[in-house]
Amino acid sequence: MKFDVLTLFPEQISSFFSESITGRALKDGLLQLNTVNIRDFSKDRHNSVDDYTYGGGAGMLMMPGPVYDAFESLKVRPGTRVVYTTPVGRVFDQSYAEELAKEDEIVFICGHYEGIDERVIDKIVTDRISIGDYVLTGGELPALVIMDSVSRLVPGVLGNGESGADESFQDHLLEYPQYTRPDKWLDMEVPEILLSGDHAAVDEWRLEESIRITRKLRPDLYEKWAASHEEYFIKKEKKARKEAEKERKRLKKLANTENL
Ligand code: SAM
Repeated sequence: MKFDVLTLFPEQISSFFSESITGRALKDGLLQLNTVNIRDFSKDRHNSVDDYTYGGGAGMLMMPGPVYDAFESLKVRPGTRVVYTTPVGRVFDQSYAEELAKEDEIVFICGHYEGIDERVIDKIVTDRISIGDYVLTGGELPALVIMDSVSRLVPGVLGNGESGADESFQDHLLEYPQYTRPDKWLDMEVPEILLSGDHAAVDEWRLEESIRITRKLRPDLYEKWAASHEEYFIKKEKKARKEAEKERKRLKKLANTENL
């Protein structure tokens, strides 16, 4: 996977991306990062890339020319996804990350100041992506957020000890709580079931915890999960009926014994 990032602050991108898991993937050649400084494409002697907005209003806007020339310098294949990170975009989520991870190359354009002249966005951008309903000073952090989550989905980027299986948002559920050693810390203990060695019981506990937490913290996700897991509720109801029947029999037996 190759990422091209058009930005006024290339070092913000490369310094973050060259560390940790993405840094290792760059060294191993699983990822490629190419940063382009938009300011290098300024046409005036002050190296300016921004100007006042037509129609008035506070703040400066990035001019279309330098952004377009920086993009053209990449000579990417037609059809390449070009992402503009902006609050005025589709909100990024795991399924969007999965969609982008299918690409071989993605171009990111990071805005600054009040953003970028609309004409160049209309001309070259395929995806306007927001990372959430808040405003940041620049598009570098959003581009890094998107690249990081897409990178984890590129085969081989996560090592054996960093499995992507069972993580939050898979199948709309949030992840269950996790624990490591020691099994007693301060006055808190790891849930007993996790030490039992009973894998089926552990799986059941984890699923129930995921459902409980998702329902409490993200009812929107829970609704989506519930809508596509009717079999879970049927199974649960059957189990509850079976247990009620067992209890009824136990009480009946007890009553019979007392009557003897
Ligand atoms: N005037 C813009 C607006 O009201 O939508 C905000 C511009 S913001 C100060 C500067 C740049 O930061 C944007 O061009 C964009 O690239 C980036 N940015 C800020 N918040 C963002 C978000 N939530 N998601 C993605 N990019 C964002």
